[in-house]
Amino acid sequence: MKPITITYCSCNKYLDRNKWKSFKNIKGVIAKKIRAELPRAKLSFSRVETPQAFKEKRENEVIARCKGKEHVVKIILKLGKCDVCSKEGTEYYEAILQVRSSKLRLLEESVEVLKRRVESLRRKGVFINKVKKLEDGYDLYLTNKRVVQSLGRELYETYGGVYKASPHLYSRSRQTSKNIYRVNVFVRLPGFEKGDVILSDNRVFRVEKTGKKIKLLDLKKNSFLSVDYSKLSYHVLKKHSTYVSRVHPDLEVINPFDYQSSMVKNKPKQHLDVGQEVNVVVHQGVYIVD
Ligand SMILES: [Zn+2]
Repeated sequence: MKPITITYCSCNKYLDRNKWKSFKNIKGVIAKKIRAELPRAKLSFSRVETPQAFKEKRENEVIARCKGKEHVVKIILKLGKCDVCSKEGTEYYEAILQVRSSKLRLLEESVEVLKRRVESLRRKGVFINKVKKLEDGYDLYLTNKRVVQSLGRELYETYGGVYKASPHLYSRSRQTSKNIYRVNVFVRLPGFEKGDVILSDNRVFRVEKTGKKIKLLDLKKNSFLSVDYSKLSYHVLKKHSTYVSRVHPDLEVINPFDYQSSMVKNKPKQHLDVGQEVNVVVHQGVYIVD
């Protein structure tokens, strides 16, 4: 029997009559190819040697028993690149994921998370082919629009903010005369994260939870509030480190701006001693925010 060459891609697709098809196990592909010529053959494999580098070939032998005859079939495995994987490192993209935030730490963290998520999808042919750094964010050019939409949603559901997805016409396929769309997914992350203290509506809040809904603690009233990010106007208050100056009859700290002992506007849960270091924000009074 003639040797059989099987070209496959590391993303688990093999070339079948000029089309890339998915497979689970390379032995299954080998068996299918052999049985196309020797129907119902019983096969015995030794260890399958697979090529490691692009364009490398590896020979294997499989024993096929069929109608009382034994055939030694030579199988040549060749590592190729499927139509999707061959787009890695090119200008090709299907979608742009635009991530924005005024909070640099949050922005960098979220982009790192995205890169790791995409790295784990490379077997499925998903790549970031270009990264553009902007003043308040990143544009990531990816090879799969469905993945970009779900990654964008994931970011939005974790950190909150604003999510928008808009398709735009890219071209028309000559083969199918269907319109081809690219997608822009825009995520504006909040300018704050869990634990930050913000001023909104002249009230001081600590951010307790981010996500589709933002959970806030009103520090003065000691009550919780759940809001939509899009309806929130705010600015982040800077935290300062200072010391407890008094605990009786009222709790007081050193105001970091004028160094006077000032009464604390909220009632922190933890027990505090004079001289203890605490973090505060200042807005028409001092709040302990630890
Ligand atoms: Zn591939």
